[in-house]
Amino acid sequence: IGTTQLPLSVATYFRVNGKDYLVPMALEEPSVVAAASHAAKLTHPEGFSASSDEPIMIGQIQFAGVKNISGAKRRILQSKQRIIKIANAQDSLIVALGGGARDVEVRILEKMLIIHLIVDVKDAMGANLVNTMSEAVAPYVQELVDGKPGLRIISNLAEKRLARARAVWKKSAIGADTVKGVIDAYEFAKLDPYRCATHNKGVMNGIDAVAIATGNDFRALEAGAHAYAALKGYRPLTKYYRDRNGDLAGEIELPIAAGTVGGITRSHPVAQVSLKILDVKSAQELAQVMACVGLANNFAALRAMVVEGIQRGHMKLHARHIAMAAGARGRLIKKLSKIMVTERRITSSRAGELLEKFRRIRKRK
Ligand code: NAD
Repeated sequence: IGTTQLPLSVATYFRVNGKDYLVPMALEEPSVVAAASHAAKLTHPEGFSASSDEPIMIGQIQFAGVKNISGAKRRILQSKQRIIKIANAQDSLIVALGGGARDVEVRILEKMLIIHLIVDVKDAMGANLVNTMSEAVAPYVQELVDGKPGLRIISNLAEKRLARARAVWKKSAIGADTVKGVIDAYEFAKLDPYRCATHNKGVMNGIDAVAIATGNDFRALEAGAHAYAALKGYRPLTKYYRDRNGDLAGEIELPIAAGTVGGITRSHPVAQVSLKILDVKSAQELAQVMACVGLANNFAALRAMVVEGIQRGHMKLHARHIAMAAGARGRLIKKLSKIMVTERRITSSRAGELLEKFRRIRKRK
């Protein structure tokens, strides 16, 4: 019935493996973009180092209530090449590009047999591609298994498609107290899932924004990131420690299933422009930049909390929203929010009082 729009911004100062990037971000919170840019600036002149795995995704095919489960497993593994051939017959283009189905794995979950189709999706996110292949191989696998296929769908836990980034924030630039504070904050997240959820939310703030700007599926990224974080008990996606110079080293590792082709990446005009601004040559390069954004945003949030409390940075914007919600328009929005920030009283009732007051003054004039 309509569309909803998000502001499109560009984060700056991202130097990744020696290359400078402008990073488009679509989200409603400008402080996230400013924070990412500032955190990236503080890594200069070295910037970030990053790497990413080959774009390997997993398709799952479920068979429930299988009778001779170990016999079925053996037959499937013996027929690997045939299964791969059927999968690859679905998409000659991906095969021509050097990708396609690579392997078949079999898992037994109680009485269920789960087949993993391992697919190199090249520069795509890969869901349509993997789903098509999984559906296509299921009837053949059924001949090898005494049972009916259940689900045939991609797994968003893209654990074979990890991206990693590292950066160092010098003690001389951020201060010894911040180095200690950020490490303490990380230790807190390691020990406590309540804190860790917010820690990882800070990682995903910017990653989601880049995903939206480039037409990628941010729900898939969210699902993958949190599932990966929970693989061995819910853990932070980043880690921080003092390097041998006493500076703060930050690292991130998470699955990033994002594409530079497929979905709406090449058809949505904003996604097209965003990919042009980013100037990435492959999905793997995009994943590296996104990992750096995640690390930058997480560092920025921790630093803000350690140094001044998160609210200071958020206050101005929050005050504007409160003023607007109370009915302020035009120049009154700025006036009201400025007063509320100075008074440190950012509430709807205060905005209402101020609005009343300004309206009375205006009437008298
Ligand atoms: P897609 O099918 O639109 O594009 C992939 C196709 O592009 C490939 O099959 C290939 O034929 C072609 N292609 C051309 N050049 C290529 C290159 N260099 N590398 C790779 N492929 C190339 O898209 P997709 O990436 O398979 O699927 C992404 C979409 O699927 C997203 O919009 C997502 O929202 C949606 N989706 C997600 C889920 C999920 O995450 N669980 C489930 C269903 C659908």
